[in-house]
Amino acid sequence: MAMGVQARSSRSAKYGSSTMAIDVVKRCRVTAEFDLSGHDADESFGWDKAWAKSQVGDVLAKVASLQERLFAEQERAVLVVLQAIDGGGKDSTIRNVLSTVNVAGVDVHSFGVPSEEDRAHDYLWRVHQCTPSKGIIGVFNRSHYEDVLVVRVKRLAPDEVWRRRYRHIRDFEQLLTDEGTQVVKLFLNISKDEQRQRMQDRIDDPEKRWKFRKGDLDDRRLWDDYQQAFHEALSETSTADAPWYVVPANRKWVRNLVVAEILHHHLAAIDPQFPPVEEGIEGLVVE
Ligand code: AMP
Ligand code: MG
Repeated sequence: MAMGVQARSSRSAKYGSSTMAIDVVKRCRVTAEFDLSGHDADESFGWDKAWAKSQVGDVLAKVASLQERLFAEQERAVLVVLQAIDGGGKDSTIRNVLSTVNVAGVDVHSFGVPSEEDRAHDYLWRVHQCTPSKGIIGVFNRSHYEDVLVVRVKRLAPDEVWRRRYRHIRDFEQLLTDEGTQVVKLFLNISKDEQRQRMQDRIDDPEKRWKFRKGDLDDRRLWDDYQQAFHEALSETSTADAPWYVVPANRKWVRNLVVAEILHHHLAAIDPQFPPVEEGIEGLVVE
């Protein structure tokens, strides 16, 4: 027992500093030499589970205070794009990490199969309408990236059509950046075996069964094609202004802390400020 406590506290000393956060954010970031197959979905950065779980709360408290400033400032926005294979943990990440701050300042949108109206427009039309307004942290549960992922893998459009979309997407996200929205893109990386377990769990548990569709098995058979599509999409669209991160997601407690750290990193970099107050307010006494 005493040993366990000791081990934990020495780990906290080692990883509890901001150096650790910067290091993890950097390690997960998609850069020029990116190779998706080199990212281990089981990675835990040497963290202790109990420590990581308690650390998430501390990081999210800092996120909440930065979010309050972002909201008060009304000048900038953040857009978190979440992508993953089925069972990757998008919903759970939103529930446990991204929507734990003041709900008034968070705006979550899910993108499923495009409606008839969506399909009557270009593929970015439905997405652009949902980007966050100033002061807001927007979260996309799936996104415009489906138009270079499922559309490619299921051959819903010819190669030349989805291929040129990398360029559109880079330009679109640059527009958002230039106009004051920090775009942060997270790929929740689970292994094929972890997906098998999670799918089985969904089938076996009556409370989770509603999440499962038989078609998910067809997608699972296309695992390698999806990995290839993710690898290429992330390589083509991770930019200095709108980076992709590969989040190790087999262990939920690792995933949650990594996502919290990345969000904190970007909010801290934005450094939102409370707006100036009206002159003469300071020192006023309410009678
Ligand atoms: P879920 O996230 O489980 O509710 O599933 C949403 C489904 O919508 C997934 O199978 C996605 O691949 C699919 N989807 C999302 N966007 C598109 C798109 N642009 N084109 C075709 N299918 C899409
Ligand atoms: Mg699904």
